[in-house]
Amino acid sequence: MNYISTRGAGAGERHSFSDILLGGLAKDGGLYLPSSYPRVSAEELARWRALPYADLAFEILSKFSDDIPADDLRELTRRTYTAQTYCNVRDDEQAAQITPLKTLGIEDGAPLSLLELSNGPTLAFKDMAMQLLGNLFEYTLAKHGETLNILGATSGDTGSAAEYAMRGKQGIRVFMLSPHRKMSAFQTAQMYSLQDPNIFNIAVEGVFDDCQDIVKAVSNDHAFKAAQKIGTVNSINWARVVAQVVYYFKGYFAATKSNQERVSFTVPSGNFGNVCAGHIARMMGLPIERLVVATNENDVLDEFFRTGIYRVRKAAETYHTSSPSMDISKASNFERFVFDLLGRDPARVLQLFRDVEEKGGFDLAASGDFTRVKEFGFVSGSSTHASRVETIRDVFERYDTMIDTHTADGLKVAREHLQAGIPMIVLETAQPIKFGETIREALLREPERPAAFVGLEALPQRFDVLPADAERVKAYVAKRVAGSVAS
Ligand SMILES: *Cc1c(COP(=O)(O)O)cnc(C)c1O
Repeated sequence: MNYISTRGAGAGERHSFSDILLGGLAKDGGLYLPSSYPRVSAEELARWRALPYADLAFEILSKFSDDIPADDLRELTRRTYTAQTYCNVRDDEQAAQITPLKTLGIEDGAPLSLLELSNGPTLAFKDMAMQLLGNLFEYTLAKHGETLNILGATSGDTGSAAEYAMRGKQGIRVFMLSPHRKMSAFQTAQMYSLQDPNIFNIAVEGVFDDCQDIVKAVSNDHAFKAAQKIGTVNSINWARVVAQVVYYFKGYFAATKSNQERVSFTVPSGNFGNVCAGHIARMMGLPIERLVVATNENDVLDEFFRTGIYRVRKAAETYHTSSPSMDISKASNFERFVFDLLGRDPARVLQLFRDVEEKGGFDLAASGDFTRVKEFGFVSGSSTHASRVETIRDVFERYDTMIDTHTADGLKVAREHLQAGIPMIVLETAQPIKFGETIREALLREPERPAAFVGLEALPQRFDVLPADAERVKAYVAKRVAGSVAS
């Protein structure tokens, strides 16, 4: 398996899965994709139906990472996808499934269900990929005798998923910037209560954008980055995308009885990472009818799939919503899909994403390319705070099921794209406890709290407060990498 850049540079070079695992963008600013998608045969699809999650993950990942010995990869997937790790569910039988499917009912003739992806350690779907990444990083670093210092900025879900995936891992430290006193009490406690010596929580005196600016400033200091072995785990990481392909197969098997059937998926979307994995599953041959992209008020992606116009918003034009993990104005994985949509033409991708930088977007409506969006199964919709609250209330009353705000956006949009006889699977991306304020508004009651999280906010917290100053952050990191960890 060879990986290429969506912008075409280094076309003659070879990049294996392990080569691109620890890196970010390709050197021309493009994103890595396999030079062609592996196809799944009818025989394989039939055999995979009966596999437990970890073994299904092995089968799918081995098609993309043929440079990792099969025995090692099987061990990694079995260690990652265990019932103990995905245990925030009602019973052992469900925990063993890792991503259980919860049937809601039949609406407009379509069986409607939720694929539960948020039963992992941080109660959001990002655990599904990040937990694997932690084990893959540790394995790869040990093999090459290297170390890695992950620097990131978070407003909640990504940072905690990264910390819980990397805690205690050999050769890895995590430096996570978060805005001081700006996250919910639950999210703060989730991150800051970690006592592992390789995890460093840095509370920045500023807002999330300040944290992101610091990460950018540090990343642009190439000498510092190389000397301190700085890396990232952001959503463009290819291993994260490919790990998410697995649950589309798992969800398909759970919702169907034979491989002749087709299903649709609705995906609450921000950076387009999750739904990009659905696109890849479809390209591999999974019988997917529709991929429904659901956005919140930040509807850049919905606008594209309705009109063919991709118009990114400035940070100041990004709304702060009650589904905050989708408050994104520029979808970092979208380029991967555009590459496929344009028949894998890197020169055109390069031009279009130059237009994004220089003119703020591009318009495919006039060209024939946009009509192909339908061939790829894509449709979309968006939601608002009012529809989110209404959906949470409706699903609770009708199905006795409490859903979080992001999943509510998915369900609201899924209902606009139901087709009789075709199961609709909505990806559940977080647990309601993470977004308690909106649950209280919708249901006038407290969100459900998984047993392992009782008393979380009372645990001792470990973090350091720093001013919003990249130089201070660099000094903090350098001191700890050098081994003098006293704060
Ligand atoms: C990250 C996140 C999303 C958006 O996923 P993308 O891969 O960025 O499209 C949706 N919901 C929740 C709860 C998230 O944490």
